[in-house]
Amino acid sequence: MGLSIRRKIPECDCCIFYAHDPHLVCTVHPEGVSSDACSDFEHDPTAEAEELWEPEGASYYNGELILAPEQRWTLLEKLALLDSHPIFTGRCPNCEAGIALENSRVHWDCGHCGWKDDSL
Ligand SMILES: [Zn+2]
Repeated sequence: MGLSIRRKIPECDCCIFYAHDPHLVCTVHPEGVSSDACSDFEHDPTAEAEELWEPEGASYYNGELILAPEQRWTLLEKLALLDSHPIFTGRCPNCEAGIALENSRVHWDCGHCGWKDDSL
């Protein structure tokens, strides 16, 4: 038994077989592969978020950058939202139920309709 070199290749990081274990490269090739490409590589969709840099409000679909601005508030939208925020109005912006103004309040969630303050 010689000392085996366990080596992974860059694509291991986004392969569903990659073990994320220092003692095991992957479940298919415990000792790693000897070439720069693995014939058993299977892309792990859950690894994609870590592998690809995504600008705010955008996502990669099939390798194409898709802008989805509605998913994130831009700074301007945030400022506009503040005008209707219960911290100023004392009312839920969704159902207009009153939300008590308390200095100690941190979360401005509406107990009436379930609106959650995610703007701050
Ligand atoms: Zn409400």
